[in-house]
Amino acid sequence: TNDQLAQWDRESFFHPSTHLGQFARGEAPQRIVTGGEGVYITDRDGNRLLDGFAGLYCVNVGYGRREVTDAIAKQAGELSYYHAYVGHGTEASITLSKMVMDRAPEGMSKVYFGLGGSDANETNIKLVWYYNNIRGLPKKKKIISRWRGYHGSGLMSGSLTGLELFHKKFDLPLDGVLHTEAPYFYRRPEADMSEGDFTKWLLAKLEELIQREDPDTIAAFIGEPVLGTGGIVPPPVGYWEGVQEILRKYDIVLIADEVVTGFGRLGTMFGSQHYGLQPDLITIAKGLTSAYAPLSGSIVGNKMWQVLMQGTDENGPIGHGWTYSAHPIGAAAGVANLKLIDDLNMVENAGKVGAYLRRAMADAVGDHPNVGEIRGEGMLCAVELTSDRSTRAGFSPVGSVAGKVVGEMVKRGVISRAMPQGDILGFAPPLCLTEGEADQIARVTAEALREVL
Ligand code: PLP
Repeated sequence: TNDQLAQWDRESFFHPSTHLGQFARGEAPQRIVTGGEGVYITDRDGNRLLDGFAGLYCVNVGYGRREVTDAIAKQAGELSYYHAYVGHGTEASITLSKMVMDRAPEGMSKVYFGLGGSDANETNIKLVWYYNNIRGLPKKKKIISRWRGYHGSGLMSGSLTGLELFHKKFDLPLDGVLHTEAPYFYRRPEADMSEGDFTKWLLAKLEELIQREDPDTIAAFIGEPVLGTGGIVPPPVGYWEGVQEILRKYDIVLIADEVVTGFGRLGTMFGSQHYGLQPDLITIAKGLTSAYAPLSGSIVGNKMWQVLMQGTDENGPIGHGWTYSAHPIGAAAGVANLKLIDDLNMVENAGKVGAYLRRAMADAVGDHPNVGEIRGEGMLCAVELTSDRSTRAGFSPVGSVAGKVVGEMVKRGVISRAMPQGDILGFAPPLCLTEGEADQIARVTAEALREVL
């Protein structure tokens, strides 16, 4: 029964990113999800909700796609598992490698498969350290990421993450992880700074940090093309060009974390293509399989690949592997998913309907006195709330208002996300969203805002 499940849930299930005490005492929301079709999910209480966040911005092709579920069932029936160590592959994992590399930005060489975005970033940092050891640069190990970046929840990936909640009481970040300023124009240090001047300020801060720490000790810079969990924040004009120039000057590896932006979300196959990035490593997950099965990857660039090969010639096989690397069921899901993204023109739809969603949102709530900014790129949209438009001041306690708005939206049938730092409503619907569904999201946002503020 529903009551029995709810009780077992409170008694037995340690939920991630959850207020544990409140949940165990039955004071926090609890939802038992039973089905999904297109952009909608259903739950055991009989609700049908438009999922304006595609799960955790991962169900890019939408729910219930038979093309993907049939591929998973077929793979499970034929061969549910074999490992990928010492040269083993499956038809699915090899085909998926080829499909990923065919879509990857120029200059990339191979893809290493993992399970989720966090472990892919752990892999990336190990590859960077290995690379610099083989190059005879053992001091060059520190990693720079950005405040408000999100790169996962592991020891290293959680350190790279630049959100306080993910560090607090865990004794993170680990030594050797440095954070630089977030490219967040709405939160620029001075109200009268132009976008161009803000970019110059960010680049100066980055270079200062590198020089202060000694460039010979800095190995890599990691960033999401568009900051995601930190607030859905596209970079200011000229930012990525400037960052890449600095990284090249100091021989620092660029890791593009495309866990959210990979496979179409920005209206281009990769965010790197959207912003002209030439990364040495790319992190992929989420949209790789549209979350029909867990799978992630690290795409390795040509320059780094040559050094990795030299390393194994000198030292033997690379000592890095997961039991589930390139899991055949994840790989089969990935093959079917990438084909579906092409067949249904979802990359183009993400660009077109995503822009429509931001316009619809601006029409619906742009004049509300507590809406500070509506922003986004491709199928990503954020509505930043403020208690005072002229000063851009936040609410107290931070996050309380966005949480209430999200709650009111769910009551009206639309899922959005209160982003974890600030009062920011986040939207990242499946890439197959229609204009009618975008209108529904915008209308419900306006109703919920009116209810709360
Ligand atoms: N990198 C980015 C940019 C992400 O948004 C996420 C998750 O949201 C991760 C890494 C971590 O991925 P996972 O939760 O699959 O470990």
